[in-house]
Order: sequence, then structure tokens, then C-alpha cells
Amino acid sequence: MNAQATKNLNFKEKKKISLYSIGVNLTLSLIKIAGGIISGSAALLADGVHSLSDLAASASVYAGIIISNKKSKSFPFGLYKVENLVALVSAFAIFFAGYEIAKDVFFGEASPIKDLRIALIVIGLTVLITYFYARYEKKMAEKLNSPSLKADAEHIKADFYTALVVLAGILFQYFGVVWGEKIAVLVVVFFIFHSGFDILKEAVKVLLDASVDHETIDKVKNILKDNPEIEKINYITGRNSGSYKFLQLDVDLKTDSLSEAHHIAHEIEQKIKKEMPFVEKVIVHYE
Ligand SMILES: [Zn+2]
Repeated sequence: MNAQATKNLNFKEKKKISLYSIGVNLTLSLIKIAGGIISGSAALLADGVHSLSDLAASASVYAGIIISNKKSKSFPFGLYKVENLVALVSAFAIFFAGYEIAKDVFFGEASPIKDLRIALIVIGLTVLITYFYARYEKKMAEKLNSPSLKADAEHIKADFYTALVVLAGILFQYFGVVWGEKIAVLVVVFFIFHSGFDILKEAVKVLLDASVDHETIDKVKNILKDNPEIEKINYITGRNSGSYKFLQLDVDLKTDSLSEAHHIAHEIEQKIKKEMPFVEKVIVHYE
């Protein structure tokens, strides 16, 4: 498969998974809000409203994926970084979710549970859906090298922990134990902020054109090592942009012929693109 075909396939897959996320968040908001109202659980209802804001977040991930795939003359390096921008916004959505949970439990009003069974069924479903979906999405995000899907998967994982807290909250509430719920919430909020911070850090690094990872540089070195026409590698650098990498190499070649040098540079570029996924562009300088 050629590079463009792979790219189209990746785009389709990313689009598909972000649509799944929209479906998951829509389902979660509906069952939690309905369950919250029927059971009388304020925690469940609050979590349902939170899922509604997640629905907006997953819609923006979808929009980000569509926009990042657009070609435009005004953005000659592509719009791939839109995905990093969306991941950055997602990080703040995760912080906000953490804050909301803490606020609800510490400052929300307590109300009695009318129907424990309904509340438990809904939260049980939520635990299952978020646990398995977060795992699936994370795996796919890694396969597709997508920062916005990775951020979305981290968020769903945070929602899984949130569901556990809501479950504890429902039970503690039902049995009238207040402090147990608060401790559980503190632990969860810590995890939520931690994952938000990781996403934020990664997004800012890419947006500021931090260097590509050592692994990528080592892989390029290995590919160049096999080429007998290369006299010396002066430097290998690169940066990330959304799912893709842009690389720059500076090498001394064993030839004085300009056309031959050009040919070798072209070959190097093709080889790197073929052996390394998600490399968008390789620029080879030679002497
Ligand atoms: Zn959430």
C-alpha cells in the first residue's frame, strides 16, 4: 500500500473511532440523566450532565480530525497540529471534569436515594462501557498515532474512575456514610488531574516543535547505516505534527555528482517513509 492510501485509511479509522466516542458519550448522558432522575441520585444526575459536556468534547475531537486532514495553500505544512490543539483543549476539559466531581461531592446537597436498583444498574453499565471503551480507544489511538484520540481515551478512563466514585457515592449515600465518599473522590480527582497534565504536556511540546523522540532518531540512524553511499551523518532532527512526523537530515555523501546525490537523497527519503509509519516528509541535505 502506498503512503497516501495508508493515510486515507488512517483518516477513515480515526473518523470512525471518534464517531464511536460520540455514541458512547451520548449513551452515557442519556442513561445517567434518566437513571439519576428516576433513582433520585444527585451524584448520578451530576455525572450525567458531565457526560453531556463530554459529548461536546468528543464532537470537537471529530471536528479536529476532519480539519487536520484538510489540504490548504495557506497551511503548506498541513493542519495536522489541529489534533494537538484539540488534545490541549481536552486536557482542560479533563481538569474541569475533575473540578466538577470534587465540587459536587464536597459542596453538593445530599438527597436520599429512592431507587437503589436503578442507580446501581446505570452505574454498573457505565463502569463496563467506560472500562472497555477506554481500553479499545487507547489501543487504536496508539496504532493510529493520534494525539486527540489518545486524549479522548484518557478522558474516558477518567470517566471510568469517576463512575467508580459515583458508585461509592451512591452506596455511601444509601447507607448514610459521608466521609468514605469524600476520600474516594480525592483519590479519583488526583488521577484525573494527572492524566490531564500528561496530555497538556504532550500537546504543548508538539505545538512548540519539540524534537522527535530518541526512538525515531535511532530508527533513522539504522536505516542510514545500511546505505554505502553515506560518508557521514551530520545531524538528524525532526518535529511532530498531529499524527505525523517531519524529519530533516544532513549527510555527507561519497559522490561529487549532483544528480547522483539527488538520486541518493530521494532513495533515502523513500526508504525512511516506507519503513517508518507516520513520517510525512523527509528533507535531506547533502554535501
Ligand atoms: Zn468526562
